[in-house]
Amino acid sequence: MSFEELGLSAEVLRAVAESGYTEPTPIQAQAIPQVLRGRDVMGIAQTGTGKTAAFTMPMIDVLAAGRAKARMPRSLILEPTRELAAQVAESFEKYGKYHRLSMALLIGGVSMEDQIKKLDRGVDVLIATPGRLLDHHERGRIMMSGIKVLVVDEADRMLDMGFIPDLERICKLLPTNRQTLFFSATMMPDIKRLADAFLTTPVEISV
Ligand code: AMP
Repeated sequence: MSFEELGLSAEVLRAVAESGYTEPTPIQAQAIPQVLRGRDVMGIAQTGTGKTAAFTMPMIDVLAAGRAKARMPRSLILEPTRELAAQVAESFEKYGKYHRLSMALLIGGVSMEDQIKKLDRGVDVLIATPGRLLDHHERGRIMMSGIKVLVVDEADRMLDMGFIPDLERICKLLPTNRQTLFFSATMMPDIKRLADAFLTTPVEISV
């Protein structure tokens, strides 16, 4: 299997080539075509399997294909920690460098004001920890009605860190006609219940 067979754009393939990757990892080979097709995905995968690229690469193409005139966030990626959110932002910049998409990284420990300035300029993607996203929402600084793609990453860590109530609140703020990608290293009953609330007839991928 090669990256060229997955249906990614020339722009993303060029960034992939520059990353030095020679072939997709199993989660990438299975998830990327499904995400491009618009399907919901439930991925059981650990960190280190290449799962970040499995959702960022196709999401970049989905967003680039459907750019709206008014820039409001069309994608939301939720991560349990600041570090993971920052890593996803790096991946997004790396694989998306040939598409002109903008993003805001909404994490704690960084000034709200700087994040608000970024939001006010208009972004395509929000990469956030649940608490900081809700802080911005409560201040009326985030429009979530335009979200078309949601990623819930590291759901089992979200559970361990007590983020389930926050996730449930966020879920209620999002449009129901969206695509959702849900990743967890394990599939315990609590995670399964959470996944059921977020996903619609997902393709299940386990690596
Ligand atoms: P992740 O599981 O998303 O945390 O990715 C783990 C590491 O694998 C990251 O450092 C990526 O840069 C790297 N990586 C992702 N996809 C590939 C690939 N297809 N070939 C080689 N390395 C990759």
